[in-house]
Amino acid sequence: MSGGSYDYAFSTINMFIDACEETLARLETGKTGSEWEEDFEPTALDLASAKERRRFLDHLRKVSEAMRAIEWVDSGDFGPGDEIAPIKMVVGDEKLVDVLDWFRQTVHRAHHEGPLDECPRNTCDAAIKVLARHKKPDQI
Ligand SMILES: [Zn+2]
Repeated sequence: MSGGSYDYAFSTINMFIDACEETLARLETGKTGSEWEEDFEPTALDLASAKERRRFLDHLRKVSEAMRAIEWVDSGDFGPGDEIAPIKMVVGDEKLVDVLDWFRQTVHRAHHEGPLDECPRNTCDAAIKVLARHKKPDQI
């Protein structure tokens, strides 16, 4: 595992998300998964609560991703500035090209090898071509 500068604080958020997902499934389906508690018919309030919790968890996933990126950058595992796009996705001023840039970097790191900007794989190559049309060459 990489990182360490902030004691993997994002993993606490991830644990919260995972635990909440279990509660959500219960609210949405009425299935308790317990032999002591009976299944129930979800009420409109249960479903409304589940819907808003799901939206919040989606937000937390972005927060966790930004926290992880900051930790990786500050630990020297990501390059300087690699946290900017994930942060923008949380604070809401992301542009589509920033999201695409973040996406290609994430996919490349997880599934490809070699230098990011010379990657011949379809996802990276297509993203590089789109980014080249929207950014100056020295920004890619
Ligand atoms: Zn790649």
